[in-house]
Amino acid sequence: MSITSRFAPSPTGFLHLGHAFSAWTAWRRAEHFWLRLEDIDTTRCRPEFSAAILEDLAWLGLDWAGVRVQSEHFSEYDVALQRLERQGLLYPCFCSRAEILRAQAAPHGADPVYPGTCRHLRADERREKIAAGAPYALRLDMTAALRAASTTRKFFEEGHGWTTAAPEAFGDVILARRDVPTSYHLCVVHDDALQGVTHVIRGEDLRAATHLHVLLQALLDLPTPVYAHHRLLTDASGKRLAKRDQAATLAALRAAGAEPAKILHQFEESRIA
Ligand code: GLU
Repeated sequence: MSITSRFAPSPTGFLHLGHAFSAWTAWRRAEHFWLRLEDIDTTRCRPEFSAAILEDLAWLGLDWAGVRVQSEHFSEYDVALQRLERQGLLYPCFCSRAEILRAQAAPHGADPVYPGTCRHLRADERREKIAAGAPYALRLDMTAALRAASTTRKFFEEGHGWTTAAPEAFGDVILARRDVPTSYHLCVVHDDALQGVTHVIRGEDLRAATHLHVLLQALLDLPTPVYAHHRLLTDASGKRLAKRDQAATLAALRAAGAEPAKILHQFEESRIA
């Protein structure tokens, strides 16, 4: 089977070794490889980071068939939202983050599961609030969504086999934010299908999100790719590399005279097949 994969960074900073490892892991397996800039949060993403990402990956020796820039496609994501809306699976949520946090303290700093306050609003209450200009997000009614996709939530994960997606832990997840008219989860499933991605190869930090993505694919009638989640690179002390580790950015390594071949060799060594 010919493999189409992608690397989909958010241009909110410079690429570090962990991102590069992820890009390389997908690239080395793919016959067709796409880049996607997940820049829907136009306040946090910056064009200079997008440019630097492309430059760093090319320096490393990766190549790609094309680049999709999500911020150029808001209208497509809106069509997908409307489709879910027509199925009665979305509702507007007027709660502020502070209200949600008050309603349910988050254990261990995890994102709190939304307690469902606005799910219970009557249609006329919703209309009134919207007419009064109250800002709102759109949430997925998880119970209704699971019912609608009760038989079509199977996916194949390399190293784990066939699994039934169990996204309940996300609760009534936000699919369109107050400030951004869509969300990572919605865009990722739309774009993976549009770009003909057969294998989503990405870090294990996104493993839980896969369950939600498979549910959205079922609801939107999109194909479900094969999933593979690689382990994350860590620093010498075993801590996962993060954007704040400036020394591990490709830009810093390049400036310090690092050679791409050596970095790729290091990736080969740490790879788990
Ligand atoms: N944009 C996401 C991130 O920066 C990755 C999305 C994906 O690979 O599905 O973590």
